[in-house]
Amino acid sequence: MHSPGLAIALGTVAALADVAGGFVLVKAHAAERSLRYFVALGAGFLMATTVLEMLPESMKFNATIAPILVMAGYCAIHFLEHTVNAHFHFGAETHAGEFVSAHTSYSVLGGLALHSLFDGVAIGSGFAISGALGWLIFAAIFLHKAPEGFTIASVMLASGGSRGNAFLATVTLAVATVSGVLFMTVAPDLVAYGLPLSAGVGLYVAATDLVPEVNREPGIKMALVFFAGVAAFLLLRSLAPSL
Ligand SMILES: [Zn+2]
Ligand SMILES: [Zn+2]
Repeated sequence: MHSPGLAIALGTVAALADVAGGFVLVKAHAAERSLRYFVALGAGFLMATTVLEMLPESMKFNATIAPILVMAGYCAIHFLEHTVNAHFHFGAETHAGEFVSAHTSYSVLGGLALHSLFDGVAIGSGFAISGALGWLIFAAIFLHKAPEGFTIASVMLASGGSRGNAFLATVTLAVATVSGVLFMTVAPDLVAYGLPLSAGVGLYVAATDLVPEVNREPGIKMALVFFAGVAAFLLLRSLAPSL
C-alpha cells in the first residue's frame, strides 16, 4: 500500500462531501443548481477514470476474473439501488408520493451505503497500486459525493424524515466510504478483487445513475460539462507521473 495515511485522509475528505451535500439541501437551497454541474462534471470524470484506468489496471491482475467482477459490481448496485427500490434517482427527490413509507427511504439508504463502501474501496484500491492512481480515483469519487449526500438527505425528507434523520443518513454514507478505504488499507492484497468490483460500481454510478440526471436538463450545457469532466481527467492524467 502506497501511503495508507494519505488514502485514509482523502477517503475522509470524500466522505465529508456526503455530509456537506446534505447540508446544501437542508441549509442552502440556492446552491442546489450548482450541484447539478458537479453531477455532470463528476459523471464525465468518473466515466473516464473507470474506463481508461480502473478497467485496464484490473485486467492486469487477472484478465479472466476481472471482467466477471466488473459485471458483478455493476449488477450488485443495480439490484440494491433500482430493484430493491422501485424508485431511485440522483438529485432532489420531488416525487413525494412515491415515498409513502419510511421503509423505502431506508432501503435507498442501504443501497447507497453499499455503493459508498465501494467508493471507499475504489480510493483504497487506487492507493494500493500507486499514489497517482489513488489521487485520480479520489478526484473521480469526490466529484459525485456532494450530489450523493444531497440525494440521500432529499430522500429522507421526502419520506417524512426529520432533518436529524437526513443528517444521520449522510453520516452513514460517510462512515461507509471511510470503511471501504480502511478495508483496503488493512488488506491491500485484495486489490485484485477490490479494483474490478469498484470499477463495476463506478461504471454504474457514472453511466446509469449520473448521466441520466445530466440528460434530464434541457439544452446542451450539461452535456458539455460532461465532456469537460472527461477533458479534466485527460489533462490531470497527462500531468500525473506514469502510473
Ligand atoms: Zn423521484
Ligand atoms: Zn458514491
